[in-house]
Amino acid sequence: MRTSEVIVVGGGVAGLQAALVLGRARRAVTVVDGGEPRNARARAVHNVAGHEGVAPGRLLELARDDARRYGAEVVCDVVTQARREGARWLVGLRDGGRLRARALVLATGVIEELPPVPGLAALWGGDVVSCPYCHGWEARDRPVAVVGAGERAWRQVLLLRRFTGDLVVLTGGPSGFDDERLEWLRAAGVAVREEPIARVVADGGRLTGVEFAHGEFLPRAVVFAATSRRPASPLPAELGCTISGAAVVTDADGHTGVPGVWAAGSCAQPALTVAGSAGHATATAIALNDALLDEDTGLGSPGR
Ligand SMILES: Cc1cc2nc3c(=O)[nH]c(=O)nc-3n(C[C@H](O)[C@H](O)[C@H](O)COP(=O)(O)OP(=O)(O)OC[C@H]3O[C@@H](n4cnc5c(N)ncnc54)[C@H](O)[C@@H]3O)c2cc1C
Repeated sequence: MRTSEVIVVGGGVAGLQAALVLGRARRAVTVVDGGEPRNARARAVHNVAGHEGVAPGRLLELARDDARRYGAEVVCDVVTQARREGARWLVGLRDGGRLRARALVLATGVIEELPPVPGLAALWGGDVVSCPYCHGWEARDRPVAVVGAGERAWRQVLLLRRFTGDLVVLTGGPSGFDDERLEWLRAAGVAVREEPIARVVADGGRLTGVEFAHGEFLPRAVVFAATSRRPASPLPAELGCTISGAAVVTDADGHTGVPGVWAAGSCAQPALTVAGSAGHATATAIALNDALLDEDTGLGSPGR
């Protein structure tokens, strides 16, 4: 059985950043990655200083190379189980392999659930996106629809108004907006359409528009879907971590409260972007290394 000091579960930007920090702190790290980062289907990664516009796969390729340079091992597999044995974690992989380590960093990410509109999923990451900070700039001055209702759709509208004057909200049913918000939207020139949506229409992989159930076709270039989020992996819950909404609950250091288990990036804070996830993972990795240093001396932080 392979033994490391730390096993990082998930090799998206958060997991690889944690591995980089721990590798440079001379910790023996193994990253196990299922290879399904949330933004895999996006055309480019935005808002990452120094890497603006890089392809998502390329950014992770560079990050894997960086982590390996400091001794981290990156394994393509899925952690299916983990159990405590004495002061160690034993981890089981989908391919049957087993690993052992002093600590686990969960960097398993979240999954975004699209509103149930036929056609949205096929265009996800291209002309169907969710985050105006990540993709609002590319949608500027184009015909845009927000698809969805409630608070998340409302926040998207507020942001997207700054990018385009041709904005419509397609709620597919009751909008959930109160009279004050509806009045504000009317004054702002943002139409709210509550009619049922039949499907999103594409040609050659590019969005052409949205078709209502009554047959009307509304040409659109970009859809921002009001998504919801859920944990990408059942593992944190199975290990006994507290889950709140889509998030693994941690203290300010990224410790989950389960001995030797830490969480980094969007699995702990689902709204984090790429740079935010990397920052969070840096802080978690430093706190974890501090705890290992205490443990090395036998003097501090028992049970962390
Ligand atoms: C379409 C889209 C576009 C986006 N564009 C941008 C953008 O332009 N800029 C930006 O800053 N943010 C963007 N984001 C957000 C960005 O994707 C996230 O902030 C970022 O991916 C979070 O990184 P992470 O490492 O926490 O999680 P992820 O990137 O989701 O990585 C988690 C990894 O863990 C692996 N994993 C999960 N469970 C297991 C397991 N049990 N065993 C092994 N591996 C496991 C997964 O396979 C995955 O590889 C976008 C999101 C979407 C959906």
